[in-house]
Amino acid sequence: MISIQNVKKIYSSKNGQVVAVDDVNLQIKEGEIFGVIGYSGAGKSTLIRMLNGLELPSEGTVTVAGNEVSKVKGEKLRKARHEISMIFQHFNLLWSRTVRENIAFPLEIAGVASNERRTRVDELIKLVGLEGREDAYPSQLSGGQKQRVGIARALANNPKVLLCDEATSALDPQTTDSILELLVDINARLGLTIVLITHEMHVIRKICHQVAVMESGQIVEMGPVLDVFKHPKQSITKRFVQQVTEPEETKETIEHLLEQYPQGKVVQLTFVGEAAEQPLITNLIRKHDVSVNILQGKISQTQNGSYGTLFIHIDGELNEVTRAMEFLHSQQVGVEVISNG
Ligand code: ADP
Repeated sequence: MISIQNVKKIYSSKNGQVVAVDDVNLQIKEGEIFGVIGYSGAGKSTLIRMLNGLELPSEGTVTVAGNEVSKVKGEKLRKARHEISMIFQHFNLLWSRTVRENIAFPLEIAGVASNERRTRVDELIKLVGLEGREDAYPSQLSGGQKQRVGIARALANNPKVLLCDEATSALDPQTTDSILELLVDINARLGLTIVLITHEMHVIRKICHQVAVMESGQIVEMGPVLDVFKHPKQSITKRFVQQVTEPEETKETIEHLLEQYPQGKVVQLTFVGEAAEQPLITNLIRKHDVSVNILQGKISQTQNGSYGTLFIHIDGELNEVTRAMEFLHSQQVGVEVISNG
């Protein structure tokens, strides 16, 4: 569906040249939710803007839904852009228009007749769950509702690809989740290909099938989300994965735990995929004469399985603790001893 080949983007500024995107290659399949994660300045916006022709690459080719976006101009580019819609961090709504009028706007531009427009807008309002708010103005809506308008407007002309530029970064965590769920629902219902850029691993783990990690204009790691969670290779990827696999304030927690449990072992278990579903702790206690305290944990779901971290304290006779540790090592779980009392 989307193919980016040997793409480079160089900006010339007063202070010289900036290589914003540096020889990027990637393929995105139809119906996939593909996430690009990176810190500020990594080149994410430049990359996503090249997908709808808002920026042209300095080198290389970008093809979306059969159109070489990096080459076509004028009417052809406008047509190609019909297939590709975008939603934004700050929604970009028309403030003097109601919800209904905002959503109708791209249909007006496309020359859709007014009665047809009305039907289509009604459909879209239902799809994004904005029934009852049709006549409200953007200033009367919550952040989540504004983004729903943005999504409805983006879907008006039945695009094949939806680009999301930090679409949930201005929203609180709960609203973020409801918008992410809406995107998953739209992806499943309409088979729409979604490309998103973000600096939050939470967004990637919650909805993406594939992830690319960007640093200094390059893609430094890429693959199915669960694989990247399981085996992050680059240190930047490890940092992103930690954002969601480790409970908040882990360091403080561990220090506190070590004071509290001078004896026995404090162990960090990392679960990925199937392992998180297994009754591992139950088996640990049943099969060994040890006491086990669950100290802290965080296990959550990705689109292709679960992952998470659990801190436990194991105490008992040395032999039994050793056997218990052997048992843990034999399981499909990462084991790291934090303290050896
Ligand atoms: P991200 O979206 O990951 O924050 P950007 O694509 O916005 O990254 O920026 C990548 C790099 O390109 C940064 O160093 C940024 O300063 C530079 N850059 C982005 N847009 C321009 C521009 N129009 N002119 C000059 N430099 C730019």
